[in-house]
Order: sequence, then structure tokens, then C-alpha cells
Amino acid sequence: MKLYPLFADMSGREALVVGGGVVGERKAAALLEAGARVTVGAATLTPALREWADQGRIRWLPGSFEEAWLDGAWLVIAATDDPDLHRRIAGLAQARRLFVNVVDDADLSSFHVPAVIDRAPVTVAISSGGHAPMLARLLRERLELLIDPVTGPLASLLGSMRSRIRAQLPDLAARRRFYGRVLAGPVQGLLRRGQLALAEAATERLLESAHAKATGSVVLLGAGPGDPGLLTLRGLRALNEADVILHDRLVSPEVLALARRDAERIEVAKQAGHHHATQAQIHALMRVHAAAGRNVVRLKGGDPFVFGRGGEELEFLRQHDIPYEVVPGITAALACAAYAGVPLTHRDHAQSVRLVTAHCQGSVDTLDWPALAQERQTLAVYMGTSELPVLQERLLAHGRAATTPFAIIENGSRPEQRVVTGTLADLVERAGVHQVRSPALLIIGEVAALATSLAWFGRPPLGAAHPLRPAVPEPLAV
Ligand code: SAH
Repeated sequence: MKLYPLFADMSGREALVVGGGVVGERKAAALLEAGARVTVGAATLTPALREWADQGRIRWLPGSFEEAWLDGAWLVIAATDDPDLHRRIAGLAQARRLFVNVVDDADLSSFHVPAVIDRAPVTVAISSGGHAPMLARLLRERLELLIDPVTGPLASLLGSMRSRIRAQLPDLAARRRFYGRVLAGPVQGLLRRGQLALAEAATERLLESAHAKATGSVVLLGAGPGDPGLLTLRGLRALNEADVILHDRLVSPEVLALARRDAERIEVAKQAGHHHATQAQIHALMRVHAAAGRNVVRLKGGDPFVFGRGGEELEFLRQHDIPYEVVPGITAALACAAYAGVPLTHRDHAQSVRLVTAHCQGSVDTLDWPALAQERQTLAVYMGTSELPVLQERLLAHGRAATTPFAIIENGSRPEQRVVTGTLADLVERAGVHQVRSPALLIIGEVAALATSLAWFGRPPLGAAHPLRPAVPEPLAV
């Protein structure tokens, strides 16, 4: 069931709570805090409820439930320990088109009470749709830590200036930038120390200077291999601040989903064979958007400096005096190795790791094959799926043992990850049998055999065709 979230204005409106125990008391208290006119119907009341009734803060209807109790109510909460009564109340409320919440019974309820983080006037509400209220509560605890206690006073302060802010900054992007500066600047610190007047003055100053021409900038950002959890915190922040995102095709939708909803997303994919945008066009886009004062994020799969042409983009930005920043990402070799259980430099098996690209015949020809064929090193080969026959042939020709294990990791760190293992002798055959597709990373070296025993993520590796081969190589003599 998908719920429609809403925040109800209950001030001055009648709410009925049936049940005078501790749960009823909690519900009544929350409704009172929201300014509702609360009636509690119950034979007996907790001491607190009784006190509120004596003080006139709530109205008490003693005795057992009667349908007339529902008259005039906008919403009803059933909080007794009588399931039959709950069903009856839910049915009657339903017939009267009254929103009803039956405590601990999602099926009978037409509204749910979320777990709440209260930073009035800001409220964050979490619901599991009645499926896992405890999970919602745990999430609430986590968010409590993340949402600054001064969020409330800050919202009140900005609320008091709202119409002026809108009048002075009619452009949405300019307003966003202004609010961004308020969050980044000293205002929150002043509020935290209770210096409201100074906080107001600091906000005024930001508003006055908001018209100074904004300078755009570019953040060259590594999105990692696909699992959004592998994005850095700095990267997440940059995505939240971006007005425009120029992204590669390799960037996963889950990572893009972390960006602001209203950020403009432009795919500038450059896939072999599909030239959606040339490098020059990407440069031009960065320049135009930055010149218009926007925060541009140039989002690339993995790390921008590992086979990502990030260097060229920075050279361009530097030439044109466009301010930039670089946020690294987790490159495919590290992510695929981790998610396939391949310790790249396991001390028993390898002393070094090389990041290699075998993208086309040209790049294959320039590789230092005698060096690559040496034992006790791990090769992480990017973009190599179409060049496997050449890789296999050259490595063997330069003396790398035919028994050297490999692991191909397709869609590393993503839910559809597949790992194909084998030895150099049957590399091409095994990749063919399993129809390995891009994006895939090839790891060749003694450590690759560990994928069989250390796998932990996704489906088990598609193992060697010859089961008699040892899964883990003998450690090499040191
Ligand atoms: N800058 C990127 C690499 C870009 S080159 C990085 O640091 O990871 C593109 C190649 O990276 C692909 O052909 C593939 O070999 C590898 N790659 C990227 N993401 C991958 C993934 N999720 N799984 C497997 N390989 C991946």
C-alpha cells in the first residue's frame, strides 16, 4: 500500500481518542500540542488525562463507546485493548468518511501516525506504511542526529523574511543559492548560541549581497561503480548543491537519484560506437553553465582520474579560469575487487597491482607486455571485454602461466553483478560461454582465485570449468 503523506492543520478542530490508557494519553498529548480540541472517550483515565480533564484541556466522555461520540470529529484514534470495539469504531468512522487510526492495526486504519522529528516549524515524518513501525522509529533516531537542533529557529527566521526574500530574488536559482549560503555561513552558529539579532543581521547581509554576480564552478565528481553507498559524503553534498549535472552513461540511476530533484541532468555519454557528445561538447557545456553562475557537477563513473579523461577536463577549466574542485570516487578496480572478494595485493600472492586499459587495438599495442606478464602482480584491466583474445594471447606469449587465475566482474557492486572465474588458458572461452557484457572489469593474477572462496556479494561466482583445479593457489615462496 502506498500512502499519501499529508500534514494536517488540527488547530481548533475536534479529535476523538477512544481509550484512556497510556497510549490514549500519548495520542491526546500529541493532538493537544498540534492545537486540536481533544475529546477522550473512556471508562477510566490515566492520572495525567484526568488532570487535563479537570483543567478543561480535554473533554472527557465517560463510559463505553457510543456512536454519538463521533459527532463533530475530524479524526478518530482508537486506542483501547478491545479488537471488536476497534473494528466497530473503524467501520463507523469509515461510513462517516472520518479518518481513523487504530493503534497497531494498519488494516483498520485510514491514516497512520508517523515517527516524527520535531524541529518546529520543521517536521520530518517517517512512515513504513504500517509494515515496520519499529524500522521507522530506528530511522527516526538516526535522523535525529543528522538534523541540527537549530533547524526550527532557522526556519522561523527565514519564514519571517520570506516575502522579502522572494521579492528581492525572484529567480529560483538565485534563491536556492541564497538559502545555500545561509546554511553554509555563520547564521546557524549564531542561532545555536542564541544570538538571534546577530543571526538576523547576518542573514540580511547575505540577502543584500545575493545580487553580486554569482560565479559558477565545476565539481569533477567520481560517482563510484554503481552502489550509491560508495559515493563519498563530499560527493553527496556536491550533488545536493548542483544546479546542473553532466553525467556519463555509466553513472547508475541510484546515484543520480541522490541529486536534487530540480537539478538539470544532462547525459553526455560517450560509449564506443555511440558518440552522444564529443569531449569538446562536454567542455562547452561546462563552460556555458558555469558562466551562467551555476554549480555544475561533472559526474563520472568510478574515479574521474582513472581512465576518465578528468585531467583533460581540468586543463580546459584551468585555461578558461573556471573555478573547480575534484572529488574522488571509488574506481572500478577497487570496487569490483572488494565486491568479488579479491584482495588485490594479498601478501601471499601479489606485490603490486596495475590498472591497465585495453580499449582498442591501439592501446593494446602500446602496453608493456613483458612487464605485464610477470608473476606475483595483479592486473586490473578496464574496458577489456572486446580485447580478451589479444590479452590472452599476448600474456601467454610473454610467459604468464596458463594456470594464472582470472575473475571477470560484470556490473560490479550493482544488484545484477556477475563474476566469472577461470584461468588464463580458458579466459576467452569462459567469457564467451557466459556472454560477459560491458561494464566489466578483468582481474588477472594469483589473487583472482580467491574470488571462489571469499565471495560475499550477489550470486556465487560462475566457477572454473575444471572442478579438480584447486580453488586457492598455493602461496608463492617469499
Ligand atoms: N573512471 C572509471 C573507469 C571508466 S572506463 C573508474 O574509475 O572506474 C570504463 C570501464 O570501467 C568499463 O569498461 C569497465 O571496465 C570499468 N567499470 C566501470 N564501472 C564498472 C562496474 N560497475 N563493473 C565493472 N566494471 C566497471
